Amino acid sequence: MTAPAGTRSSADLIRAEEPVLAHNYHPLPVVVARAEGTWVEDVEGRRYLDMLAGYSALNFGHRHPALIEAAHRQLDRLTLTSRAFHNDRLAEFAERLAALTGLDMVLPMNTGAEAVESGIKVARKWAYEVKGVPADRATIVVAADNFHGRTTTIVSFSTDETARAGFGPFTPGFRIVPYNDLAALEAAVDETTAAVLLEPIQGEAGVVVPDDGYLTGVRELTRRKGCLFVADEIQSGLGRTGRTLAVEHEAAVPDVLLLGKALGGGIVPVSAVVARRDVLGVLRPGEHGSTFGGNPLAAAVGTAVVELLETGEFQRRAAELGAVLRDGLADLVGSGVVGFRARGLWAGVDVDPAIGTGREVSRRLMDEGILVKDTHGSTIRLAPPLTITAAELESALAVLGRVLRQ
Ligand SMILES: *Cc1c(COP(=O)(O)O)cnc(C)c1O
Repeated sequence: MTAPAGTRSSADLIRAEEPVLAHNYHPLPVVVARAEGTWVEDVEGRRYLDMLAGYSALNFGHRHPALIEAAHRQLDRLTLTSRAFHNDRLAEFAERLAALTGLDMVLPMNTGAEAVESGIKVARKWAYEVKGVPADRATIVVAADNFHGRTTTIVSFSTDETARAGFGPFTPGFRIVPYNDLAALEAAVDETTAAVLLEPIQGEAGVVVPDDGYLTGVRELTRRKGCLFVADEIQSGLGRTGRTLAVEHEAAVPDVLLLGKALGGGIVPVSAVVARRDVLGVLRPGEHGSTFGGNPLAAAVGTAVVELLETGEFQRRAAELGAVLRDGLADLVGSGVVGFRARGLWAGVDVDPAIGTGREVSRRLMDEGILVKDTHGSTIRLAPPLTITAAELESALAVLGRVLRQ
């Protein structure tokens, strides 16, 4: 017999997972039972400031009232139709998302990896039908240290051995160049190239911000060479960096934009490929699809997310509080921090390896009531909800400083 929820301790629940749950994650030993805004509470009622925000899936915080209300209203009316029929929520979602991003058309999907897969299919189809690449010869150029998801095709062009090893054979058709290196990109692009697929800021790699001019350089190069610029903004987009999209910092407009994570408001998985009409227009009935993509619940929540972003409030908060984050981290350089990269409310912090691994520091922060996640080695990633207050952010930075001095 399994005890009802709410009667088992954190330790008991962690132990219970071990034999029945695939071991593809190594979570911190905290069992979250409820949450609101920037705060989560564990089974025993301990409270933690969430400085990860579901890898940016929770940009608007936990259970933002406008998003919860939109979800409740939709749950009471209609949740799923499949795309065999139209539903009365999808048109508005697509119209408003296209308007928000300045592009023309939307292909609704569910997870980020699906948006990436869909973007790859669209780019290849465009290459054959519009660019005239010979059948099955299309290439896509990607960056080393990328993170675009976990499907077999996506891990085919990962450079992270942990993500790849044991999962071959891999999908061909990808060329990997160093990130932030326009000369290497130029050398890799040829007449077979359908697209250059990049994260405008590499999140999983440790919030790696490219040099000023890189993204405009990618835009100029892809236009000149006649291939698409596909920007994966699944983590960097939707307010995180202080703009709606990270590419806006350089006014580099991609041909294809991949969105996910925060698009679902932390409630349901919602992703999308957003593109110009001459690109996404290559798809015809039957060539691609998803049972759940564009479902009315997802569309209602996604529309409410777009509505929040239309106010500009979250982008403004990320920019203003991003300065607080940057200043706070700069003060810690030399006192446990060896370096950091930040844009908006998003930072990769390299802690002195002598102090501990990223995981060990994350564990100590957890014990002090702050939830973060390590990336590689001794790097931790900070990505609080964009609803965080200056006081909460300053207190988190103070705790980080204290933990690093211990
Ligand atoms: C998280 C992420 C993905 C994959 O999204 P899932 O919803 O986990 O499939 C793809 N690209 C980037 C940049 C991401 O951060």
